[in-house]
Amino acid sequence: MSDQQPGGIRADGASALKGKTGFTRVVNAFFYSLAGLRAAFRDEAAFRQEVVLAALLLPLAFFMPVGGIGKALMIASVLLVLIVELLNSAVEVLADKVTTEKHELIKNAKDIGSAAVLVALINVPVVWMLALFG
Ligand SMILES: [Zn+2]
Repeated sequence: MSDQQPGGIRADGASALKGKTGFTRVVNAFFYSLAGLRAAFRDEAAFRQEVVLAALLLPLAFFMPVGGIGKALMIASVLLVLIVELLNSAVEVLADKVTTEKHELIKNAKDIGSAAVLVALINVPVVWMLALFG
């Protein structure tokens, strides 16, 4: 596309918005991330449900009779659900900004994001079963 520039992945307009570097950027990024967590928790029922699931499963993982690697995989499988849900929610927000009317491509984008969450959810019992029972 015409907005690509050599040596960069962003259009000129987007690059101009990315002014900060170094420590200030890290601090700002942290607060943007907190705002994102807050927005997802406020607006996404699915994210709230998965946070409840994580609040139950993460402490449980620590008390399971498995080694460190097993615990790490069990914890990672739960955190992956939250990560994928956050990305899916970001797609949904962007899609709704583009249009809230029915559109085949918007539906595809949202369905694919939803499918990613489903795969991450299926991954949880698969990992937990394998870690616990081999
Ligand atoms: Zn959603």
